[in-house]
Amino acid sequence: MKTTTPSHTTRLGLDWSRAQAFLARERTAYERRNPRSAELAAQARCHLLFGVPLHWMTDWGTPFALHVDHAQGAQVTDVDGHVLTDFCLGDTGAMFGHAPAPVAAALQLQATRGYTTMLATADATKVGAALAERFGLPMWQFAMSATDANRYIVRWIRAATGRKKLLVFNGCYHGTIEDVYVDLVEGLPTQRDSLLGQVHNLLEHTVVVEFNDLGALESALAAGDVACVLAEPVMTNIGMVLPQPGYWEAAQVLIRRHGALLVADETHTISTGPGGYTHAHGLKPDALVLGKPVGGGVPCAVYGMSAELAERAVKAKLEAPPGHSGIGTTLTGSMLAMAAMRAALTEVMTPAAYAHMLPLAERLADGLRAVIARHRLPWCVTQVGARVEFQFTPTPPRNGSEASAILDGELEHLIHLGLLNRGVMITPFHNMMLVCPQTTAVDVDRLLGALDEVLTEIAARA
Ligand code: PMP
Repeated sequence: MKTTTPSHTTRLGLDWSRAQAFLARERTAYERRNPRSAELAAQARCHLLFGVPLHWMTDWGTPFALHVDHAQGAQVTDVDGHVLTDFCLGDTGAMFGHAPAPVAAALQLQATRGYTTMLATADATKVGAALAERFGLPMWQFAMSATDANRYIVRWIRAATGRKKLLVFNGCYHGTIEDVYVDLVEGLPTQRDSLLGQVHNLLEHTVVVEFNDLGALESALAAGDVACVLAEPVMTNIGMVLPQPGYWEAAQVLIRRHGALLVADETHTISTGPGGYTHAHGLKPDALVLGKPVGGGVPCAVYGMSAELAERAVKAKLEAPPGHSGIGTTLTGSMLAMAAMRAALTEVMTPAAYAHMLPLAERLADGLRAVIARHRLPWCVTQVGARVEFQFTPTPPRNGSEASAILDGELEHLIHLGLLNRGVMITPFHNMMLVCPQTTAVDVDRLLGALDEVLTEIAARA
């Protein structure tokens, strides 16, 4: 990632000195526009570390944290009364819109009937059946977050297979499950040095290879000690990296041949369609993880297993000494989460919702390509269903190293701030945009218009 700021040069098709002047103006505009947020941010500094509820909320690149009053559908209203069109949608937590009505109604009802008991409910049974039907995996368990769901499924698989190693793709993100923070640095597996308080040697049990490289995958699997490959079917957390045609079909054969299992983390790629990327593209994972959006934005997550894996997992538990499994927490499977998931799965994440989202995302992707072409920028647009990204390279990256090399935090912040000041919000990380069931064509055109305006201010003049 570039961090220096060469001035008087063209950078990624932009006039960098114009860009810096623009950034200074936008920071001032933000400060003027958001006095109430400024006040709240100042107060928050007294008792919140870094002045925010979650330390990486400072990643937004705004002079101080934007404070939200409420969020509904595709809109977020900040405490200064601006109604922002939201394409960030909680980085997928609110992929089906903020506070979807069926989920709100289910929560309202559940709010009078208890939240958490550590007991089974009829809702849980319905959720399990709905998940099995949707994703084609018969057995399910719950977690509070996708991070936890990933952590638990990896534990189950290690226990079931007796193998210790986890294989991940360079540049992946699967939440804060520790095991995955191993990168390839100049080709060598390296524990990520930004981790705080991490005391374990992650290199011991994690193998990392580049995405889209079947040879590397095969070599890494050859020793026969990999329990599972944990993967997003499309990498979405380092910009976007699409699988090359035929990659997953061949990768699945290799994974099976070497006795490893495939875990598809569909937390983001559920943007593809109701059954996620795996269902849409005929992949057959042994396990599947889905977090954030599955409860309409209420904290919860799910993970599913094939019949064969479920049988091996049950056997591992029955054969283990009595005591803690290290899997699950007291709030896992709470009544509140179950009610939210039942409503989200049956009434919100519907084919009709996708039928609205997918064509609108196409409109967004086409519109972005047109804006980029108009400003003659060497950028491209990638897409997985309702999830769209513009990237600072003329051809889409093929793996994590290529994707990481084109990230440009400074430029991202500048563009995001410019958009925010024009009433449009995209993710704080790279340039991701999601279309939700309440997003309209007018919203999409507003984003395209705002981006065009920003680029007109900073593009290099011919
Ligand atoms: N898996 C993927 C693919 C993710 O992108 C994320 C978070 N963005 C997670 C897991 C973790 O989700 P959570 O923050 O809900 O734990």
